[in-house]
Amino acid sequence: MGLLHDQGVLRGVEAGPYPLEALAAGPQFAPATRLSAHSEPLPEATSELGLAAVRYQNIFASCTTQNSAPRGDGSGDPAVRARELKGAGYYLDAAGVGICALSPLHWYGSPEAGHSHAVVILAAHGAAIEADNLAAGWVSGAQDHIALMRALEISTSLLGHIRALGFDATLHYPGASTVCLPTLCLSAGLCQPHADGPRHPFIGHDFVAVALTTDYAMAVDLPLDPAARVAARRYRAGINGALSGREIERRKRRPSHLSRYPMETVRRVDQPTTAIFADEIPRVPKRAEFFMRARKGDLGAKAQREVARFAFKHPLTDGMMYPLRAMVPHQDGPIAAQQSPDLADAAQNSRALKSLSYHLGADLTGICELPDYAWYSHGPDGSVIEPRHKYAVVMLIDQGYDTMEGASGDDWISGCQSMRGYIRGAEIAGLMADFIRSQGYPARAQTNADSEVLQIPLVLLAGLGELSRIGELVLNPFVGPRFKSVVLTTNLPLEVDQPIDFGLQTFCGNCLKCARECPVNAIPFGDKVVFNGYEIWKPDVERCTRYRVTNPRGSACGRCMKTCPLNKVVTNDGALLHRMGTWLGIHARWLKPVLVPIAVWLDDKLGYGKRNPVKRWWQDLELIDGVARKPAATNERDLDLSADTSGAKSPVGYYFAADMPAPDNRQAHPANHRAAIERAVLVETVAEARQRRKLSAKVPTHYIPVTELTSEPE
Ligand code: SF4
Ligand code: SF4
Repeated sequence: MGLLHDQGVLRGVEAGPYPLEALAAGPQFAPATRLSAHSEPLPEATSELGLAAVRYQNIFASCTTQNSAPRGDGSGDPAVRARELKGAGYYLDAAGVGICALSPLHWYGSPEAGHSHAVVILAAHGAAIEADNLAAGWVSGAQDHIALMRALEISTSLLGHIRALGFDATLHYPGASTVCLPTLCLSAGLCQPHADGPRHPFIGHDFVAVALTTDYAMAVDLPLDPAARVAARRYRAGINGALSGREIERRKRRPSHLSRYPMETVRRVDQPTTAIFADEIPRVPKRAEFFMRARKGDLGAKAQREVARFAFKHPLTDGMMYPLRAMVPHQDGPIAAQQSPDLADAAQNSRALKSLSYHLGADLTGICELPDYAWYSHGPDGSVIEPRHKYAVVMLIDQGYDTMEGASGDDWISGCQSMRGYIRGAEIAGLMADFIRSQGYPARAQTNADSEVLQIPLVLLAGLGELSRIGELVLNPFVGPRFKSVVLTTNLPLEVDQPIDFGLQTFCGNCLKCARECPVNAIPFGDKVVFNGYEIWKPDVERCTRYRVTNPRGSACGRCMKTCPLNKVVTNDGALLHRMGTWLGIHARWLKPVLVPIAVWLDDKLGYGKRNPVKRWWQDLELIDGVARKPAATNERDLDLSADTSGAKSPVGYYFAADMPAPDNRQAHPANHRAAIERAVLVETVAEARQRRKLSAKVPTHYIPVTELTSEPE
């Protein structure tokens, strides 16, 4: 760990979290015999959680039916291809990704025509859960099934990527493989031989392996020397920028329900740090959501055309689209007739759900009661949504610091960064909801692909962050703005968390970096206002949505998150400066007025927010008419220190509830940006809103949404 730089600053994403390269390897260590005679399935799942994991395995395994696209402009360089495939696998949180050439040794029967290479993917068991935690019983015996579910999520995304590039790929997993997976683990340099089967030098046997065989030729990894070891002391300190043993130990020491980051050290408060006038907040229909508005033509023909592809125009996100969509029908389902007697204690349930979510891969989890205003009023088709669950379990999925470090935030990988959070969140919340229903309680996963609730107020109320200048984004003290949320709503008895205060209002009040770096000035440079009942730095949602949807030099956008000074690594492997800054931010908040301006200045001075080329593992490619093409241009940006930060040139447009389309409005309801800017006269400060409320109990008319249905024909 350095003073100014994270331990992993010089480690490519494709190298993975474990320093396998520190072990001797060579072709002479290739296995001479096949390790098994046929493909062994995992032992049958018996627990409810294991059975739910098998259902999700089947969902992912069904996502392999798409045809290969015509070949496009993807690189023919085997090293570039290997870097991309391994980078993508590690980016999706594989514990190991290795590549080897296929030989007759690997095939049980006849080789698949043309398949010359295998990509081997390992998914590790989730974090251990304490024996006195209810979730320990749920997870017991299901670890391998959960790991296989994760391996299939990752591998079907990679399979889709290879096919989108114009090549063939076949998925192999335990019980459904024509190649010997244990032998491939050795050949691809991921494991060493051991009496109990292939053993990974750093995670032992706690993993499940799957493989893709393909005609996509790539540079290969070398088999590991069976006798190679690294000294424990070196590993503890961290080798070549890999995840250090010291950080792994820190994670293991933490109780599982507290997750990876010490949220228990952050000050809890009764109310969020930004005012919420709950009685005035309008419930809005899904039709009012700006991506939906783009789909219906409210933002014009170009946005309507592009919205269907903007996030999926890179081949990797195209590959992720299949598993993401396949999970949607499973977000809700039948509830077991009998309620489990083990789930009567709210405190125990909350602890167990938090531990389970962490075991499944959520980075942070909080729980809150679900206010009515957080439910959409109507679904996409105009059908009424009735609030029906009492609690929200809110989970945050880190979008991946390393890849964000390599990207500009609005280049060709940006859409993938969101999708990574969405697919993982949908998988975790979907599995948990499935399990809760099997225990006799209602539960629904509320995901990016299909949510009945607005997630931002829930992230706030569940104590996972404070509202930031980015506007419709809650920022967490440890992962900053760099996450996607997913929510599970349920009536299972639960104990809730309180909101937090880590001084973010002071920080964002003294920092304009996200506003300065936003390519379309969608983030305000001025003060917070009260909008639809929330005190918020109100962004120009139309400008942001239009840019994300139509970005011609990249896919989507997350540049505000990328450049935020609070987007840092603050674990044991993070730079000392960032760890100290986080500690002071949480524990010495009285110093903030002095320290924040220095921190903001220093962040620019040290060049944080620029791209780190070491972290760039992907190819710039755009799917055009189904073919992966070299894009005409790419947003190659770093910092814009000279940008005008007066805000004079970019007044924000306000789209109040009253200006939104009717819930079932199927025709275009054009968004009028000029009128939205003029609506600034309706905006209040918190003091003004309080004064108005003292004088009258009437809700402002511009807060009242259109609820009358149009009953327009499709
Ligand atoms: Fe601006 Fe991009 Fe952030 Fe939207 S996502 S506010 S366009 S930087
Ligand atoms: Fe707040 Fe600065 Fe981050 Fe924007 S860039 S969210 S103002 S800390």
